[in-house]
Amino acid sequence: MSEELECLDRHEQNCTGPVERYESLSGTGTMITRCRVHREKALKRHEEIQERYPDSSVAPSWFDPAVAGERWDDNY
Ligand SMILES: [Zn+2]
Repeated sequence: MSEELECLDRHEQNCTGPVERYESLSGTGTMITRCRVHREKALKRHEEIQERYPDSSVAPSWFDPAVAGERWDDNY
């Protein structure tokens, strides 16, 4: 019996592709579970944050940890 994996962003209701476990983008080693589409969205969002706020450890006002599924990283 295999473990049932649920996409972290399943409330967006447009999950597509296999749901897999990935290491958190913030590099904390936390494992998060996302479908392929939401994984790609999260990755894109992460890259945009890195470009705009490369030196900031403070979350911008629009950053929603509930949406990102990850805490604003405190280890940068
Ligand atoms: Zn999803």
